[in-house]
Formats: sequence, C-alpha cells, structure tokens
Amino acid sequence: MIRNFCIIAHIDHGKSTLADRLLELTNTVEKRDMTHGQFLDTMDIEQERGITIKLQPVRMDWKHEGKNYILNLIDTPGHVDFSYEVSRSLAACEGAVLVIDATQGIQAQTLANTYMAIEHNLEIIPVLNKIDLPAAEPEKRAEEIESVFGIPKEEIIQISAKEGTNVKQLLETIITKIPPPSARPALSAPSAPMSAKALIFDSIYDPYRGVVAYVRVKEGEIKKGDSLYFMHNKKKFEALEVGCFRPQYEKHPCLKNGEIGYVVTGQKSVGDARVGDTIWKGKESNLEKATALPGYKKVMPFVFASIFTVDADNYKELREALNKLSLNDASLQFEPERSGALGFGFRCGFLGLLHMEIVQERLEREYGLSLIVTSPSVVYKVTMKNGEEKTIATPSELPDGGIYDHVKEPWIKMEIVTPAEYIGVIMKICNDRRGLHKDTQYLNENRVIIVYEIPLATIVIDFYDALKSISQGYASVSYNFLDYRQSDLIKLDILIAGDRVDPLAHIMHRSEAQKTGKKITTKLKEIIPKHQFQIAIQAAIGGKIIARETIPALRKDVTAKLYGGDVTRKNKLLKKQKAGKKRLKMIGKVEMPQEAFLAILKKD
Ligand code: GDP
Ligand code: MG
Repeated sequence: MIRNFCIIAHIDHGKSTLADRLLELTNTVEKRDMTHGQFLDTMDIEQERGITIKLQPVRMDWKHEGKNYILNLIDTPGHVDFSYEVSRSLAACEGAVLVIDATQGIQAQTLANTYMAIEHNLEIIPVLNKIDLPAAEPEKRAEEIESVFGIPKEEIIQISAKEGTNVKQLLETIITKIPPPSARPALSAPSAPMSAKALIFDSIYDPYRGVVAYVRVKEGEIKKGDSLYFMHNKKKFEALEVGCFRPQYEKHPCLKNGEIGYVVTGQKSVGDARVGDTIWKGKESNLEKATALPGYKKVMPFVFASIFTVDADNYKELREALNKLSLNDASLQFEPERSGALGFGFRCGFLGLLHMEIVQERLEREYGLSLIVTSPSVVYKVTMKNGEEKTIATPSELPDGGIYDHVKEPWIKMEIVTPAEYIGVIMKICNDRRGLHKDTQYLNENRVIIVYEIPLATIVIDFYDALKSISQGYASVSYNFLDYRQSDLIKLDILIAGDRVDPLAHIMHRSEAQKTGKKITTKLKEIIPKHQFQIAIQAAIGGKIIARETIPALRKDVTAKLYGGDVTRKNKLLKKQKAGKKRLKMIGKVEMPQEAFLAILKKD
C-alpha cells in the first residue's frame, strides 16, 4: 500500500527537521547516519545557508495494523522564489502535511502553499510545530488556522519536530487520512497490453548515467529494461535502471503504479527528459494516438539578468553548464545575448533575487566558472509610434525617447502577513514604491493580511530586506503577476570615461531617476579602483547628464605607503590585490570589478 505526501510550509517552520524525525522513526536513516540536521538538504549551499532549495523525495517503509506501507515523502522549499518546486511536488502526491510554526502562526507562504495544495485537490494534514518552545501559542494558532482555512482545530496535530513529540501520531494520521494513489491499472485493452505512463517531476544530469528522471508512475508499471518514450519528442530509450529514493538511489526491479522513483535514461542530451513531460510505455503503433499526462504550466520568470564569464574563452562552458543546470532547475530560462561591453553571454530569467543568487553560486561551484552577473531588471513592453509592441528584456534595448509612444511595466498583487502594529510602516514603504492599497483583512485581533498592487520593479531589488527590517522579521510576503500597466518610465544610462556601458543601464520611473543616478555614480566611485588616469562616471537620460562623479588618477604605488622593511605585509597586500583582480572585466580602458554591475543592489 502506498501513501504519497509532501511537506509544505513557510520558510523555517520546520519541514526539513520534521522529515529528519520521520526518517528516524521509520528507520530509513539510522540515527548514527543522521550526520547533520535537515538530512534531506543534500546540497552544500542548502546546508551552509540552512534553507531548502530543491524538492527531495524519499521512500520510507512502515507497518500499521499489520499491513506494510510504502510512504513516499517529498520535502519542499519554503521561500517564495522556489514555489515552483512546491507546485511540482504537489502534482506527484495525494496529500500534504502543512507545517505551521506555533510561535509564528500563519505566514505569507503558508497561505500561498495551502491554496496551491487545495487547487491540486490534496488531503491536507495541518500540524503545529515547535511546541517545545516557551513562546509557542498552540491554542491561539489553532484558532487562527480554523478561522482562515476552516480546518477544525481538533484536527490539528501539535508536534515538536526537534524533539519528536507526536511525530508517530502524525505518521499514523498520514496513513489513515491520505488516500492511496488512485488505482488506475494499466490499460487492459488488447491493443495496449503493457502500457504505462509516468510524470517527470524533476530530473538531473549525471555524468556517468546521463539523464535521470524523477517520476511518479500514474498508470501501469515501469521495469528495468523496458522500452520507453518521451512524449514530447517521441524519442525512444531504454530504462537502464529504476528504483526509489532512500534518499540515495536504491535499485528495484520495477516501479509500480502509484510509486515515486527514478528512471535512469542514459540519454546524454539534456533536452530530452523535460520536467512536466510524460514517459510512455506501450506498443509503438499506439504512440501517435497516446495522450500525455497533464504537465506543469510554464513558469514565468520575474526578473532577468545577464551572465557572462570573466574569461571570454569560457562561453561554451557556460552554455553547457546552463543547459545541465536548467534540467535540474526547470524554472531557469536563458537565451544567448551579446553585449558591446561584456561580449557573449546569456540573458537569464529567474523567479526572484534569491533564485538568481543561487543559480550564480551553483554555476560557479558545480561547474567551476567565474562569472559576471549584471543587475536584475524586469521585462518591459514598449509601444512604438506606429503601434508595434516590443518586449524589452534588457534595459539597453529600450530605444531612445521620441521613437516610441509609451512603455508598460509588470504589476503584481502582493500579500503581506504582519502583526498589526507594523501596518503603518509597511504601508509607507509600499506607498513609496508606487503601490496601491487594495485591502486589509484581520487574521485575528492582532495579525493582518495587507493586499497591495505594486510595480514589480519596485520590489525586486530590496523590498524583502526592507520589510524584514521594519517589522523585525515578523512580516512575510508572497506575490503573483497581475498585468502590464503604462507608466512614465525612462532609461538611465551610465557612462564610464565617456562610454555608455550597456549592462549598467536601468529602466525606472522618472521620479526615481535623480536619486538613483546619484546613488549609482557614488557607489561606482567607491567600487571601481583608481587607474593611471582620471575617470568620469556619469548618469544620463537621453543625452542629458543628471549626476557625475570623478575617480582621481592613481598617483603612487599602493605599497609605497608601507614601511620599508615589512616585506610580509607588502606581499600580503600584493596578494590581496591579485585575488581581487580575478573578477575584473575590462570595459574600454577601465577595469571593473563584479560588484560594479550590481551597484544598484548595494545598500546606501
Ligand atoms: P524548513 O525551512 O521549513 O525546512 O525549516 P527547518 O527544518 O530547516 O527548521 C528551521 C529551524 O527551526 C531550524 O533551526 C530548526 O532546528 C528549527 N526547528 C525545527 N523544528 C523545531 C522544533 O520543533 N522545535 C524547535 N525548538 N526548533 C525547531
Ligand atoms: Mg527545509
């Protein structure tokens, strides 16, 4: 008997810690092998940052009332940038354990993830976690959950994922409440005696085995050695190995209907095993008529930035790395781009700033690349005087004024969950960003949901940090794309030593241009090292200069200031200079460090 479920929650409410306890309780991982907390966070970045980035499936076995159960758990990320991982996990399961921190209550991602689980028709098992903490208020939080989701509070299980309290009770509830996978046997029509369908919900590229697809079998069964097809390109391949996650690969002779597991495809081309595609088994003559399982809706990136290699010779490696990474990160999008200043690179679409940071870090760590990433921007739509509409993915593409009629920018609907005392300051930062207040709903007497419509561009850069700092970490946010709206937008160009540097151009509202121009030029003056000559840094709209800074010429040797005898210190300084040089990129005659391209992100 099978139960498939995922664990969903706002970030840090304890999903991965709960998964640890379930793995121990079911003896899937021995206590002594539990070498680190959040065992399913297998990537280095996840452990270092203490956050889950990838969905992670694992199979557990459990005996309940004399029957053997296979429990497939999928741990998911909680940060808004990775909600695509959550939605794909939901599609592979029949149930969701919804974890809510008993000290914090419902947060923005609690709402967003729960709505998603409801949309997928999943059985939801609500859990209040961290009841071991003195600040936990399980009674109050349970009432909140009852009033917001309509789940009777008696059904909410109170646990401590850290100490294991009531985790066994939760496991038994999972077995009794979550339905088994709908029993759809292989189609028994004589024309399709041995057919099967499996949904690919994730996949990775393994240098030795080729593409490994993570699947949920929806019909029939898949055996080692079976001839299979990818539905989207009708390409045939053999199942070289199949098995389940423990969480490491564990070989099995066969994946049965309803199971979650992996299929080693041996395919070397990363374009084959696309996330959301169907793996199909059946008579070749039926392939044309076969229908794919419902896949996933294509994700829309929120922010774009360009990625270049520091060393121009590494362009091919970057393309290869992006191809492979995008297999494991289906939300990453990219296309080739050529910049006058930086050469050949890729314009990449991300789901948010954290996502962008993680992609850069993974490319550098997993593929050994040294990269220059430009500052993020949203996608604009410009309507030309002749009525033609163009999409502007890079700010430098915006034509000069006079040629076009107007520019539109993306707006989002944003929900902020906060203690009521912060309503005033939060509304202020939203209003300052041209937001339109739409609604305020009370979760209970002292916690509210504030709803805003706001231009996406005003929140991608630093809204998250601003919100956390003014609310002392208590407010959380989630958002959805709304539509494109016309506004008074201009392009701010940055000129270094008289040359317009396209990767530094930004599109913004006219009212923000003066302040931003000043900020960027000041920042660049701090970041760009002195050269043998004086460097002018200018911000301009059209041809008009609106801000200017000057970096004076370098006069003396940097080490000249040091006392004659101290050789170690001198060497140290030279070494430091050398290390700093690695990421310098020549723009005309000027050497620019990586941070210069992200100047707009830097705090004042
Ligand atoms: P996730 O982001 O939902 O996966 O959350 P994690 O499992 O990474 O946990 C976030 C933090 O909360 C970690 O520091 C955990 O040690 C801590 N934590 C999780 N569950 C409990 C609990 O039941 N009690 C206490 N005191 N801390 C917990
Ligand atoms: Mg986690």
